[in-house]
Amino acid sequence: MRKLFVAALLLTPALAMAKVPVVASFSIVADITREIGGDKVEVLSLVGADQDAHVFQPSPADVRKLASAKVFVVSGLGFEGWMPRMTRAAGFKGLTVVAAARVKPLAVQEEGHHENDGHDHGSVDPHAWHNPQNVMLYADAIAAGLAKADPASADEFRQRAAAYKGKLKELDAWAAQQFASVPAARRKVLTSHEAFGYLAARYQIRFLAPQGISTEAEASAKAVARLIQQVKKEQVKAVFFENMADKRLLQQLGKEAGVNPGGKLYADALSSDGKAGSYLQLFRSNVTSLLGAMR
Ligand SMILES: [Zn+2]
Repeated sequence: MRKLFVAALLLTPALAMAKVPVVASFSIVADITREIGGDKVEVLSLVGADQDAHVFQPSPADVRKLASAKVFVVSGLGFEGWMPRMTRAAGFKGLTVVAAARVKPLAVQEEGHHENDGHDHGSVDPHAWHNPQNVMLYADAIAAGLAKADPASADEFRQRAAAYKGKLKELDAWAAQQFASVPAARRKVLTSHEAFGYLAARYQIRFLAPQGISTEAEASAKAVARLIQQVKKEQVKAVFFENMADKRLLQQLGKEAGVNPGGKLYADALSSDGKAGSYLQLFRSNVTSLLGAMR
């Protein structure tokens, strides 16, 4: 009897402070959501660290996770092509937060590179998180969405978003200052797929990529040959591998074009190697690696 009573006392506060069950589409959006939600949310990420969200195929367990969530946070701009079918399959009735809803989208550049891409990505580049100014908009969108799901914690979400945006602003100012110290002619690199358009636009960097906008695309022999010519002509300084992508094509390309390996860039996923455990770390690591190769 006494044991039961104690157990009931221990259980009650836990129930009273039930966390909002949130599903995030991939690791980067999950991290940003945890920053804003703090201990008021329980965030599950469908696509984990070092995994490729472009080719994700939801399992029945993933569908069940979404079915029991109250909020579904996605990046948007067509990045999660599998999302509409999955929300239907899960019978999801909760709130979908499109984090990039207020981002000014960039058009896909270099149309020719993804000519063999069978998947329809539209003409918009979805990788908006590679500009911290966009992630500030993510923070606001997520805070507003979480506030709808848990109105009692709205103030806390707003405060946490404001604090996080302060860090993003600092990060952006630091990156801008660093890149400005590198001559424009040296701000050129080669990488796997065109994930860095927003970074390129924000800090005037030229990225060349054989794989186009999605990792699903296969680079054609013609496209690869053309890229080798381009890399040589433009005197690209370094080739970077991505944490979730196949290295072979890029290794071959770098070798044929005589470009030095610059290290690893974190594109569409956080990592479990300790270098990009959060978005803030991911961004800082990418900028540091790029600067190292350009200088
Ligand atoms: Zn991508």
